[in-house]
Amino acid sequence: MAGMTPLKYLQAYPAQVQNQVRDMIAQERLGEYLTRRYPQRHEVQSDKALYAYTMELKQQHLKNAPGIDKVLYDSKLDVLRNALGLHTAISRVQGSRLKAKKEIRVASLFKTAAPEFLQMIVVHELAHLKEIEHNKAFYQLCQYMLPEYGQREFDLRVYLTWRELPSTHRTDNPE
Ligand SMILES: [Zn+2]
Repeated sequence: MAGMTPLKYLQAYPAQVQNQVRDMIAQERLGEYLTRRYPQRHEVQSDKALYAYTMELKQQHLKNAPGIDKVLYDSKLDVLRNALGLHTAISRVQGSRLKAKKEIRVASLFKTAAPEFLQMIVVHELAHLKEIEHNKAFYQLCQYMLPEYGQREFDLRVYLTWRELPSTHRTDNPE
């Protein structure tokens, strides 16, 4: 039964919203919803391109945030636990100094996603340069960089939900 479908990516949303998504799954309309809203695929296909893309967004909105050493697609990121990318500050000894290395890792599945989703992920990760926790200040920063951030993150979670549906519910493939 569709009503029993667990929506692990959407647990933080009101039951009513989750039920709307369940209805769309039951009616096999989720793929159509995503295709209509996000018909395009972006062209940021290499780590080098991802780095340039990220630095451009940073330059636009967060010039004064700490620098980034590395930006890369990571095929080993756990999609469930790190669906929104992984932010690490690797501390390592360089000479006699301890240097924090800032990295942004984006799950490889977003390589084939809509440009809007890549943008949302990178905005999320950039906001973490200033705010570590997912607190109010963090989301305000996300919205400052991307005014429709809230809707975008919801839709991205819908996309992740859709990706993991049994194939019987995925006949309307947005890819
Ligand atoms: Zn985060």
